[in-house]
Amino acid sequence: MGSKGGPVWVFAEQIDGRVLAVSLQLIGQARKLADEMETSVEVVILGSELGEQVQKLFAAGADRVYLGDDPSLTFYQQEAYVEIIVELAKGQQPEIMLIGSTSMGRELAPLVAARLETGLTAHCTGLALGEDGTLEQMIPAYGGLISITCPVRRPQMATVAKGVFPMPTVDENRTGEVVPLDVPDGLPCRIQTLEVVREEPEGVPLESASIVVAGGAGAGDLEGWREIAALAEALNAGLGSTRPVVDEGWAGLETMIGQSGKMVSPELYIGVGLSGEQQHVVGIVGAQVMVAVNNDSKAPVFEQVDYGIVDDCREFVPVLIEKIKGRQV
Ligand SMILES: Cc1cc2nc3c(=O)[nH]c(=O)nc-3n(C[C@H](O)[C@H](O)[C@H](O)COP(=O)(O)OP(=O)(O)OC[C@H]3O[C@@H](n4cnc5c(N)ncnc54)[C@H](O)[C@@H]3O)c2cc1C
Repeated sequence: MGSKGGPVWVFAEQIDGRVLAVSLQLIGQARKLADEMETSVEVVILGSELGEQVQKLFAAGADRVYLGDDPSLTFYQQEAYVEIIVELAKGQQPEIMLIGSTSMGRELAPLVAARLETGLTAHCTGLALGEDGTLEQMIPAYGGLISITCPVRRPQMATVAKGVFPMPTVDENRTGEVVPLDVPDGLPCRIQTLEVVREEPEGVPLESASIVVAGGAGAGDLEGWREIAALAEALNAGLGSTRPVVDEGWAGLETMIGQSGKMVSPELYIGVGLSGEQQHVVGIVGAQVMVAVNNDSKAPVFEQVDYGIVDDCREFVPVLIEKIKGRQV
């Protein structure tokens, strides 16, 4: 049961002048929440030459778009973006503010929340309205999903990763109101993005891979990790990881799957040397067939998967690679 109140806001992130998929997914979810709350969906987008993108936001479900279109905002400028969003939010009083859990969003959201003196739930895996109309912000914890609420302060703020919500059904005939933002000179700029240099991602992109091989702490060391990476390569699979792998520096953050990483939905997922903690597993719920290799027959991951192999991955993986290569010859 909802109640009329302030709008549901989405901060729409753009890169190279194109709105990110996660932002459109959030607009879709904001639409559902706003309909229940009998309020509107408002989107804030900052950048330059964004004219063509605005219709995408309406088509996805926005009623109003606050458009900060200025050459000085082409790249993400931390302090300027925070300043604009905070000042606008103080005036417009959104009830909810959703931001993509991207590299930018992870930095922007807590800065905005701190300035607005409100709460923020990071990396939500679900959003719904509670009986009293407050936003239930779901995150994996204590072996299940828990709901965090922000009962007093507003807006209720959450970050959500790409793939948690589906792409909305677009309606190209939808229109709305565009509110151009006055981008003042002299916005704070102690930190400035001058240039963006992109690294070409290695290997098969995780999000679109039909096979994903994910390795965990059970790899043991960098050499063990490289074997798991070799398995991914032999299968032409995307290579995923758990947090300890990233913490050890065996692989980059871009490989991490789960609550604070990526969501994957391959036809086949093979988890090697990982325990199956909720924060990881939440990222693979879209997988069709799941296999785990773990030397502990009681590892929780075996409760999650379709096929379990109890073995030492350091012995099993090289043999599997040989078998795969043998079949390919
Ligand atoms: C807020 C929050 C967000 C988080 N977000 C994420 C996230 O997005 N993604 C993520 O992955 N984690 C995340 N985590 C961490 C998560 O809770 C777990 O700690 C992590 O997923 C465990 O990684 P692991 O399974 O590799 O390691 P462990 O839990 O240490 O498991 C290692 C497994 O390897 C097995 N093993 C050991 N040796 C071998 C061997 N030789 N052969 C075969 N198996 C072996 C062990 O039996 C064990 O089951 C998050 C945590 C928090 C608190």
